[in-house]
Amino acid sequence: MSVTLDNALLESEEHRTLRSCVAALGRRYGREYFTAAVRAGRQTDELWREAAKLGYLGVNLPEQYGGGGGGMTELSIVLEELGATGCPLLLLVVSPAICGTVIARFGTEAQRAHWLPGLADGSVRMAFGITEPDAGSNSHRITTTARRDGDDWLLSGRKVFISGVDIADATLIVGRTEDARTGKLKPCLFIVPRETAGFEFRPIPMELAAPEKQFQLFLDDVRLPADALVGDEDAGLLQLFAGLNPERIMTAAFSLGMGRYALDTAVEYARTRQVWQAPIGAHQAIAHPLAQVRIELELAQLMMRKAAFLYDNGDDMGAGEAANMAKYAAAEAGAHAVDQAVHTLGGNGLTTEYGLASLLTASRVGRIAPVSREMILNFVSHHTLGLPKSY
Ligand SMILES: Cc1cc2nc3c(=O)[nH]c(=O)nc-3n(C[C@H](O)[C@H](O)[C@H](O)COP(=O)(O)OP(=O)(O)OC[C@H]3O[C@@H](n4cnc5c(N)ncnc54)[C@H](O)[C@@H]3O)c2cc1C
Repeated sequence: MSVTLDNALLESEEHRTLRSCVAALGRRYGREYFTAAVRAGRQTDELWREAAKLGYLGVNLPEQYGGGGGGMTELSIVLEELGATGCPLLLLVVSPAICGTVIARFGTEAQRAHWLPGLADGSVRMAFGITEPDAGSNSHRITTTARRDGDDWLLSGRKVFISGVDIADATLIVGRTEDARTGKLKPCLFIVPRETAGFEFRPIPMELAAPEKQFQLFLDDVRLPADALVGDEDAGLLQLFAGLNPERIMTAAFSLGMGRYALDTAVEYARTRQVWQAPIGAHQAIAHPLAQVRIELELAQLMMRKAAFLYDNGDDMGAGEAANMAKYAAAEAGAHAVDQAVHTLGGNGLTTEYGLASLLTASRVGRIAPVSREMILNFVSHHTLGLPKSY
């Protein structure tokens, strides 16, 4: 029995159908397909292409550009359900969710026409780069700088931990213009195609069993045409936030899917593994923590759906708070689920055959990125509770 979070009355029939269709697709590939790809050092392109063909990858993008006309509610369902079958597609967090949203909402007509159809049908992938080595959690300190040169821009700086740059056709880079080089962040967003001269990327060796790699970026006077700047130079902060809420909602979906996959595996094992008179799942020391995990996942999923609902209905402020809370809750629930699942399987929790141990590191990602759990607690302390800042 799969640990599906069943919301027959809370969720529309359309959404439930989407869930079950995506889950069926994920099951056809399954965890073994995914881990085989990781071991072989290749991407899960077959799954990506099939999900694209079925319209799942661009489900949140406008119909006029080939998308599904939905929102984060639908896209988070896609990622959560794929993750729950052991096949999370990390690039959904950045490509259609952040980059697609930002371009759809703030791009010029030419940028929309150029990028959205490919993002919607999955033939184009885009990475997203904001994190810098010397700024980290403090985005106000980013120093990637764009200066004008005639009609062009010259972009220079360094980025770190940027996911999927090697498989992305372009990276959406967050920088600042020369005249806004210091002080509070006044960001501007540039689309940098992968092969642009002066744009260099190097993989960072990571202890993560995932097909997508993380990269350090070196931008050295990267010459970009005027229309590489997304939308308006002065609307950068608005654009950035429009992309960050989807990122948090999708990170929640990523953690939830992984947590559900781990819980599923553990429950199945606890139901059948017997070393005394009854299966180990009959011992409350095994059953209760799994029940607790289920409750935590269910609560986190509700919060994620609240965030997606607010976002899809145009409440960016409300969605900001809810998306932060959802990302926090889902990351904690996901990490707890994986930890408990590994423990439930005893020695098998660490075998390659069961494939759970590699999720121990993967499940930590939701606690660190795109914003750490501490920065969310800071946000809730300051923004929600009105407490003073220590920094
Ligand atoms: C697998 C993975 C994929 C990623 N993909 C991307 C990507 O595609 N694009 C991208 O731009 N970035 C990406 N990141 C980067 C990620 O967003 C950053 O790692 C994250 O924002 C934290 O920054 P940092 O690593 O520099 O940690 P730091 O900022 O150095 O923080 C280190 C620790 O200090 C704590 N800390 C810092 N400041 C405070 C404070 N004021 N109060 C309390 N605690 C504090 C943090 O919570 C953290 O625990 C990825 C990271 C990982 C691990």
